[in-house]
Amino acid sequence: MAYLVKTPWWLRRVFYQHLTWKMPVKNKPAVYITFDDGPHPTITPFVLDELKKHNAKATFFCIGNNVSRYKSTYDTTIAEGHTTGNHTYNHLNGWFTKTEHYLKNIKQAAQHIEGHIFRPPYGKVKRSQANRLMLQKPAWRIYMWDVLSGDFDTEITPEQCLANVLENIEPGSIVVFHDSEKAWSRMSYALPKVLEYCSQQGWEMKALPKH
Ligand SMILES: [Zn+2]
Repeated sequence: MAYLVKTPWWLRRVFYQHLTWKMPVKNKPAVYITFDDGPHPTITPFVLDELKKHNAKATFFCIGNNVSRYKSTYDTTIAEGHTTGNHTYNHLNGWFTKTEHYLKNIKQAAQHIEGHIFRPPYGKVKRSQANRLMLQKPAWRIYMWDVLSGDFDTEITPEQCLANVLENIEPGSIVVFHDSEKAWSRMSYALPKVLEYCSQQGWEMKALPKH
Protein backbone atom coordinates (compact mmCIF):
# COMPACT_ATOMS: atom_id res chain seq x y z
CA MET A 1 0.00 0.00 0.00
CA ALA A 2 1.48 3.34 -0.97
CA TYR A 3 1.19 6.17 1.52
CA LEU A 4 3.46 8.50 3.42
CA VAL A 5 3.73 7.99 7.17
CA LYS A 6 5.20 11.47 7.63
CA THR A 7 3.79 14.17 5.37
CA PRO A 8 6.81 16.09 4.02
CA TRP A 9 6.81 19.83 4.78
CA TRP A 10 7.38 20.77 1.12
CA LEU A 11 4.33 18.81 -0.01
CA ARG A 12 2.23 20.60 2.58
CA ARG A 13 3.65 23.99 1.68
CA VAL A 14 3.64 23.74 -2.08
CA PHE A 15 0.42 21.91 -2.89
CA TYR A 16 -1.88 21.92 0.09
CA GLN A 17 -1.42 25.16 1.94
CA HIS A 18 -5.18 25.65 2.23
CA LEU A 19 -5.46 22.58 4.47
CA THR A 20 -4.25 22.31 8.07
CA TRP A 21 -1.50 19.71 8.53
CA LYS A 22 0.06 20.68 11.82
CA MET A 23 -0.73 22.89 14.79
CA PRO A 24 1.35 25.85 15.92
CA VAL A 25 3.71 25.06 18.78
CA LYS A 26 3.12 27.24 21.82
CA ASN A 27 5.03 27.51 25.10
CA LYS A 28 3.54 24.32 26.43
CA PRO A 29 4.17 21.48 23.97
CA ALA A 30 1.07 19.65 22.81
CA VAL A 31 0.10 16.95 20.33
CA TYR A 32 -3.25 16.33 18.68
CA ILE A 33 -4.37 12.73 18.36
CA THR A 34 -7.30 12.04 16.06
CA PHE A 35 -9.51 9.05 15.29
CA ASP A 36 -11.34 8.58 12.01
CA ASP A 37 -14.31 6.45 10.94
CA GLY A 38 -16.16 5.97 14.24
CA PRO A 39 -18.08 5.86 16.36
CA HIS A 40 -18.00 2.12 16.97
CA PRO A 41 -19.93 0.58 19.90
CA THR A 42 -16.95 -1.24 21.47
CA ILE A 43 -13.81 0.22 19.89
CA THR A 44 -14.61 3.86 20.63
CA PRO A 45 -15.23 3.12 24.35
CA PHE A 46 -11.81 1.39 24.45
CA VAL A 47 -10.22 4.55 23.02
CA LEU A 48 -12.10 6.78 25.47
CA ASP A 49 -10.87 4.69 28.42
CA GLU A 50 -7.26 4.84 27.24
CA LEU A 51 -7.47 8.60 26.78
CA LYS A 52 -8.95 9.01 30.25
CA LYS A 53 -6.01 7.15 31.85
CA HIS A 54 -3.70 9.90 30.58
CA ASN A 55 -6.06 12.81 30.98
CA ALA A 56 -5.81 13.18 27.21
CA LYS A 57 -8.29 14.90 24.93
CA ALA A 58 -8.63 13.98 21.28
CA THR A 59 -10.65 14.60 18.15
CA PHE A 60 -12.94 12.12 16.41
CA PHE A 61 -13.71 12.60 12.72
CA CYS A 62 -16.98 10.69 12.57
CA ILE A 63 -18.89 9.10 9.73
CA GLY A 64 -22.42 10.51 9.90
CA ASN A 65 -24.01 7.13 9.31
CA ASN A 66 -22.10 5.67 12.26
CA VAL A 67 -23.15 8.55 14.51
CA SER A 68 -26.81 7.91 13.76
CA ARG A 69 -26.33 4.18 14.45
CA TYR A 70 -24.29 4.60 17.64
CA LYS A 71 -25.64 7.81 19.06
CA SER A 72 -24.97 7.00 22.71
CA THR A 73 -21.30 6.26 21.99
CA TYR A 74 -21.12 9.59 20.19
CA ASP A 75 -22.77 11.39 23.09
CA THR A 76 -20.30 9.84 25.54
CA THR A 77 -17.41 11.09 23.40
CA ILE A 78 -18.71 14.65 23.61
CA ALA A 79 -19.56 14.35 27.31
CA GLU A 80 -15.96 13.33 28.04
CA GLY A 81 -14.64 16.57 26.60
CA HIS A 82 -13.40 15.48 23.20
CA THR A 83 -14.17 17.28 19.96
CA THR A 84 -15.73 15.78 16.88
CA GLY A 85 -15.50 16.56 13.21
CA ASN A 86 -17.23 15.65 9.98
CA HIS A 87 -15.94 12.76 7.82
CA THR A 88 -18.93 12.75 5.41
CA TYR A 89 -22.09 10.67 5.92
CA ASN A 90 -21.00 7.69 3.80
CA HIS A 91 -17.19 7.90 3.78
CA LEU A 92 -17.04 9.29 0.25
CA ASN A 93 -13.86 9.59 -1.78
CA GLY A 94 -13.79 13.21 -2.95
CA TRP A 95 -11.72 12.48 -6.03
CA PHE A 96 -14.47 10.24 -7.40
CA THR A 97 -17.50 12.19 -6.21
CA LYS A 98 -19.19 15.13 -7.87
CA THR A 99 -18.79 18.25 -5.79
CA GLU A 100 -22.53 18.88 -5.32
CA HIS A 101 -23.05 15.35 -4.05
CA TYR A 102 -19.98 15.56 -1.83
CA LEU A 103 -21.17 18.77 -0.20
CA LYS A 104 -24.66 17.38 0.27
CA ASN A 105 -23.26 14.30 2.00
CA ILE A 106 -21.22 16.48 4.35
CA LYS A 107 -24.31 18.55 5.11
CA GLN A 108 -26.25 15.37 5.90
CA ALA A 109 -23.48 14.29 8.30
CA ALA A 110 -23.45 17.75 9.88
CA GLN A 111 -26.98 17.19 11.14
CA HIS A 112 -25.54 14.54 13.48
CA ILE A 113 -22.07 15.88 14.24
CA GLU A 114 -21.06 18.79 16.43
CA GLY A 115 -18.26 21.05 15.25
CA HIS A 116 -17.38 22.75 12.02
CA ILE A 117 -14.21 20.90 11.14
CA PHE A 118 -13.76 18.35 8.39
CA ARG A 119 -11.38 15.61 7.36
CA PRO A 120 -11.79 14.11 3.88
CA PRO A 121 -12.03 10.29 3.80
CA TYR A 122 -8.83 8.80 2.32
CA GLY A 123 -7.38 12.32 2.56
CA LYS A 124 -8.79 12.84 -0.91
CA VAL A 125 -10.56 16.10 -1.59
CA LYS A 126 -10.60 18.10 -4.81
CA ARG A 127 -9.39 21.66 -4.70
CA SER A 128 -12.86 22.78 -5.84
CA GLN A 129 -14.51 20.87 -3.00
CA ALA A 130 -12.12 22.27 -0.40
CA ASN A 131 -12.67 25.78 -1.71
CA ARG A 132 -16.44 25.44 -1.51
CA LEU A 133 -16.19 24.22 2.09
CA MET A 134 -13.90 27.04 3.07
CA LEU A 135 -16.16 29.64 1.44
CA GLN A 136 -19.26 28.47 3.30
CA LYS A 137 -20.39 30.55 6.25
CA PRO A 138 -19.27 29.64 8.79
CA ALA A 139 -16.24 28.33 6.95
CA TRP A 140 -15.17 24.75 7.41
CA ARG A 141 -11.64 24.15 8.60
CA ILE A 142 -10.10 21.13 6.92
CA TYR A 143 -7.69 19.09 9.05
CA MET A 144 -5.25 16.71 7.49
CA TRP A 145 -2.29 15.31 9.52
CA ASP A 146 1.46 15.11 9.66
CA VAL A 147 1.69 11.60 11.15
CA LEU A 148 -0.22 8.63 9.77
CA SER A 149 -0.07 5.60 12.07
CA GLY A 150 -0.94 3.24 9.22
CA ASP A 151 -3.27 1.34 11.58
CA PHE A 152 -5.62 0.74 8.62
CA ASP A 153 -2.88 -1.14 6.76
CA THR A 154 -3.47 -4.87 7.28
CA GLU A 155 -0.01 -5.60 5.88
CA ILE A 156 1.92 -4.01 8.72
CA THR A 157 2.43 -5.35 12.24
CA PRO A 158 1.20 -3.61 15.39
CA GLU A 159 4.86 -2.91 16.22
CA GLN A 160 5.40 -1.15 12.89
CA CYS A 161 2.28 0.91 13.44
CA LEU A 162 3.65 2.01 16.82
CA ALA A 163 7.04 2.81 15.28
CA ASN A 164 5.40 4.90 12.56
CA VAL A 165 4.04 7.18 15.25
CA LEU A 166 6.95 7.23 17.71
CA GLU A 167 9.51 7.98 15.00
CA ASN A 168 7.56 10.96 13.68
CA ILE A 169 5.49 12.55 16.41
CA GLU A 170 6.62 15.92 17.76
CA PRO A 171 4.97 18.93 19.40
CA GLY A 172 2.25 20.30 17.10
CA SER A 173 1.72 16.94 15.40
CA ILE A 174 -1.70 15.85 14.22
CA VAL A 175 -1.73 12.05 14.39
CA VAL A 176 -4.24 9.77 12.66
CA PHE A 177 -5.64 6.58 14.15
CA HIS A 178 -8.94 4.85 13.36
CA ASP A 179 -11.61 3.63 15.79
CA SER A 180 -12.63 0.94 13.32
CA GLU A 181 -12.63 -2.85 13.13
CA LYS A 182 -10.10 -2.85 10.33
CA ALA A 183 -7.56 -0.94 12.41
CA TRP A 184 -8.32 -2.61 15.74
CA SER A 185 -5.39 -5.02 16.12
CA ARG A 186 -2.81 -2.33 15.34
CA MET A 187 -4.53 0.63 16.98
CA SER A 188 -5.29 -1.22 20.22
CA TYR A 189 -1.61 -2.16 20.50
CA ALA A 190 -0.10 1.18 19.53
CA LEU A 191 -2.42 3.72 21.13
CA PRO A 192 -1.73 2.91 24.82
CA LYS A 193 2.02 3.06 24.16
CA VAL A 194 1.77 6.32 22.23
CA LEU A 195 -0.21 7.89 25.07
CA GLU A 196 2.36 6.65 27.57
CA TYR A 197 5.18 8.11 25.47
CA CYS A 198 3.50 11.50 25.15
CA SER A 199 2.88 11.63 28.90
CA GLN A 200 6.54 10.84 29.56
CA GLN A 201 7.62 13.63 27.21
CA GLY A 202 5.43 16.02 29.17
CA TRP A 203 3.33 16.80 26.12
CA GLU A 204 -0.25 17.79 26.59
CA MET A 205 -2.68 15.76 24.47
CA LYS A 206 -5.27 18.19 23.18
CA ALA A 207 -8.39 18.14 21.08
CA LEU A 208 -8.45 20.23 17.91
CA PRO A 209 -10.66 23.31 18.19
CA LYS A 210 -14.11 22.48 16.81
CA HIS A 211 -14.42 25.60 14.64
ZN1 LIG B 1 -11.95 7.51 6.98
